[in-house]
Amino acid sequence: MGYVPVSPQAPPVDGHVDYRLARQAVLNNFKSGGLSRLDICDAHPELRRAATEYSTPTTDECPVCTEDTVAHVNYVFGPRLPAHGRCINTEAEFARIRRRKGTFTCYVVEVCPTCAWNHLLRAYVL
Ligand SMILES: [Zn+2]
Repeated sequence: MGYVPVSPQAPPVDGHVDYRLARQAVLNNFKSGGLSRLDICDAHPELRRAATEYSTPTTDECPVCTEDTVAHVNYVFGPRLPAHGRCINTEAEFARIRRRKGTFTCYVVEVCPTCAWNHLLRAYVL
C-alpha cells in the first residue's frame, strides 16, 4: 500500500496520470473497516523524513488522523538520476531537470508526517 521509491510505475504515456480515484478508494475502504490504520499509514521512514524536511507543505488536513496537514513530496525519475529517484522541491531544481536531455517523470506523494498516511497523488512528465 505504501510508496516504494525504488520501483516506480511506468511513466505516464500522455504526460499525466491522476491517482485521486485510487486514493479515495483506499480511504473509503479504511472508513468502511476493510483496511486498518496500520494498512494505510505505512510511510517508509525516508518518505516521512522527506515530508518533514523537503516537501511542499499544504493546508490540506490529513484524511486519516485529522491532526496534521499533509505534505507533497516530489520524486523525479529519469536518465542520470539515482535509481530511487531524486527528491525535488524548488522551481529552480525543476527548471534544471527540464533543461536536461531525456524524459523525466515526477511522482507526487501525499504524506502525513504525524500518522504516516501516504498515497501517490499524480505522476507527470516534466
Ligand atoms: Zn495523518
